[in-house]
Amino acid sequence: MGSMVETAGAVIIGGGITGCATAYELAMRGLTDVVLFEKDYLTAGATGRCAAGVRQQWGLEMNIRLSRGSCKILETLEEDLGYPHSIEFKQGGYLLLAFSGELLEQFRKNIKLQNELGVPSREVSIEEAQQIVPHLCTDELVGATFCPEDGHANPFHTTMAYAHAARKLGVDIRTRTRVTGIDVSEGRVVGVQTDRGYISTEIVYNAAGPHSGPIAAMAGVEIPVYSERHQILVTEPVTPYQGPMVISFERGWYCQQTPHGAFIAGLGDPSEPRGINNEATWQFAELLAHEVLRILPSLEELRVVRQWSGQYNITPDAQPILGGVRGLDGYYMAVGFSGHGFMVAPMTARLMAQMITGEEADMDISMLDLERFERGELILEPNVV
Ligand SMILES: Cc1cc2nc3c(=O)[nH]c(=O)nc-3n(C[C@H](O)[C@H](O)[C@H](O)COP(=O)(O)OP(=O)(O)OC[C@H]3O[C@@H](n4cnc5c(N)ncnc54)[C@H](O)[C@@H]3O)c2cc1C
Repeated sequence: MGSMVETAGAVIIGGGITGCATAYELAMRGLTDVVLFEKDYLTAGATGRCAAGVRQQWGLEMNIRLSRGSCKILETLEEDLGYPHSIEFKQGGYLLLAFSGELLEQFRKNIKLQNELGVPSREVSIEEAQQIVPHLCTDELVGATFCPEDGHANPFHTTMAYAHAARKLGVDIRTRTRVTGIDVSEGRVVGVQTDRGYISTEIVYNAAGPHSGPIAAMAGVEIPVYSERHQILVTEPVTPYQGPMVISFERGWYCQQTPHGAFIAGLGDPSEPRGINNEATWQFAELLAHEVLRILPSLEELRVVRQWSGQYNITPDAQPILGGVRGLDGYYMAVGFSGHGFMVAPMTARLMAQMITGEEADMDISMLDLERFERGELILEPNVV
């Protein structure tokens, strides 16, 4: 006796913020027979390991629009999705530090563009920076910029809010189910193989984060991405006293205080080898403490309670690859977000759902296609960590 082959309107691979938000946006557009496969549990990838910072202070119009659009969506997300918990979106701002005149010059150019696009960012004097963050040591500081609408959210609740809303609209989310193959025939996607069976579909969406390269390869698509470990730690909670996220591009670290009172801080190591590695090292904790305490010395009092790591998925220009692939119908991807995939996810999901359903797009993202690397049209964003 043969069993019926299962069919889906679309298959999403990956249960992080990108996959869950896109599932919701597709279902909102009437594509409700969507199946999402997640090999572990929702948020198991980069999403559940990230700092979930949301900043609009970018240097390129595309990034400003993506992050501003996402920020606006996050402001009313709980209500819009009917989520019964808080996503803990705290708009305490982002204070961007400049330790050189060169970076400050760049910040000034960025602010001009941000303001033209409606972002309420501004340059602040050293005195004002210290008013905004009273425990800031300004000895080495050359300048700073501030945007009061930037902030951070709880990545678990934000993802669950989307998943919850997607399920209500009929999306079938299957955790503990690993995709093992993508079936392609005559230039189009025809099905997806998992460790729990085969499903036929004409649309597959790669939202596999650090695993985006191997997933693309299953469809015969080669994408120029690699993954890289980034470490992060959290302190014991204390009475809130730091409003904004404080960040230094030059020194590669960021530090925020969550509504719960814990400080979360991370730092990128330029010598980190490529690959997937979830180990945590004492060298990271030591280096982070050294760098952050130079600027935020009062944090010295705090005990670190936990440290972990996750991966950035990185392209040659550290900007995502969004879209399909010429010559392969039905394959889409939203991958390669480096260290900023959380903050652009709400808008990315909407734009990708518009692309997949053939709806008119809210903004042009054609410059983020895979072929830009062949064309040599890399997107050079100055404000990237
Ligand atoms: C330490 C750290 C700090 C960060 N801080 C920020 C920040 O402040 N702001 C910001 O915007 N971004 C930040 N990021 C980046 C951000 O976390 C990512 O860009 C974002 O979470 C990517 O989401 P995603 O849904 O695309 O991928 P992921 O969350 O990685 O989800 C992909 C999912 O696919 C699943 N998967 C993989 N292979 C398969 C398979 N074969 N079958 C089924 N499922 C599979 C994985 O298990 C995973 O759950 C940070 C990242 C790290 C590591």
